[in-house]
This record gives sequence, C-alpha cells and structure tokens, in this order.
Amino acid sequence: MSIANNLENIKATLPDTVTLVAVSKTKPIADLKEAYEVGQRIFGENKIQEMTQKWEELPKDIQWHMIGHVQTNKVKYMASYVNLIHGVDSFKLLKEINKQAKKNNRIIDCLLQIHIAEEDTKFGLDKEELLSILESDTFKALENIKIKGLMGMATFTDNEQQVRREFKSLKSLYDVATTKLSGLDTLSMGMSGDYLSAIEEGSTMVRIGSSIFGSR
Ligand SMILES: *Cc1c(COP(=O)(O)O)cnc(C)c1O
Repeated sequence: MSIANNLENIKATLPDTVTLVAVSKTKPIADLKEAYEVGQRIFGENKIQEMTQKWEELPKDIQWHMIGHVQTNKVKYMASYVNLIHGVDSFKLLKEINKQAKKNNRIIDCLLQIHIAEEDTKFGLDKEELLSILESDTFKALENIKIKGLMGMATFTDNEQQVRREFKSLKSLYDVATTKLSGLDTLSMGMSGDYLSAIEEGSTMVRIGSSIFGSR
C-alpha cells in the first residue's frame, strides 16, 4: 500500500473531531512529500534536529509537532517555528519554552505529558505534579506559552483492557484540567496500534506513524 492509500484509509476511520498527526520520524523527505501532496499538513517528529532539517526543506504551510522527549537546552532550535509541543513533562521545560517563545515574539502551544503507562520507561507528570503546575502563580504568569491540553502514551501491550484503563485515566485527568484552565481543546492519545480505542475513550488528536509510512 502507498502512503497516500494508507492515509486515505486511516482518515476514513477518524471522526471530524479528531486531528491526525502523521508521525514521520526517521522517514525520508520523499515520504513526507507524498503525504503532503495528498493534503497532509501536520507532521510529528521526536528529534529536534531531524524536525528542523525537514522544516527547512519542506513547504512552510506544514505544522510541525514535537512529540518526543524534549531536552531543555534544545528548545531554542525549534522555538521559531514549532506549532505544538506534546511532551512537556516538567515545569522547568515549560519555563524554558516560555523564555524561548518570548525571544521569538510568539506564543507556543503545548500539551502536558501525563504518565499513564504501567511501565516506568515512559516520561510524564503524575496527577499531583499536573495540579501543582496548573495551580502555581509562576505558571499563571507565563505569557508566551499556551497549554492546549494533555498527551499520554499507553503501555505497549496486547492487553486492550489495560490500554483502555490507561486512556480512561488520562481522559479523567483531562476533564479535571479543563476545570482549572480555560481554552483546552486537545487530548493527544492513540498511535497506530491503539488509536481506535483512544478515540472511543475521548481522544481528539491521534499520532500515527507506522500505519501511514510503514514500519521503522
Ligand atoms: C513514534 C511515536 C508515535 C507513532 O507510533 P506508531 O506506532 O508508529 O504509530 C506516536 N507517539 C509518539 C510519542 C511516538 O514517539
């Protein structure tokens, strides 16, 4: 199957309320162009250097989403163009994004990453850390970031019940967050293997790589 066909098939399964991020990490420019030519405009990358190279080479109406773990000292390389940072998992990182956004005279949209998986290899905040950020005065004073919602990754497992349980826990935290902060509209959950469950559990943004571009 071609990239264009894969995209078409996936889009046919997505409700209008769900945004598709085409996860193009490790894939060559030619693959992104193929997706671009059939209308895909949102791409997700997990390495800042790779994303920046692709941003330089590809049309400027593409929206670039950073979906990977972000090191504080690298925020500056994407601060001028990144559209959404999914993996904000510390207050320190959020403050650095704010600082770099200010230097670039813009507001950068962010998602707070929540740790929902039972495996402890995945990054993210727990509920207490999330609430302590949202309730802090320092946070409220950050003028160059905008929190749009939450992001999470379920455990990599065939156990669908476990995955659903993790998605439900993220959705319920999202509901709590919407009572603390206005303007939230994004719940980023679901990848190639679990996005249909994620949508049933309330996802508004899915990050799909291998089902579009093939395995990595
Ligand atoms: C790689 C990646 C994806 C896409 O995974 P696929 O299984 O290829 O769809 C989604 N989210 C994050 C955070 C990733 O790193």
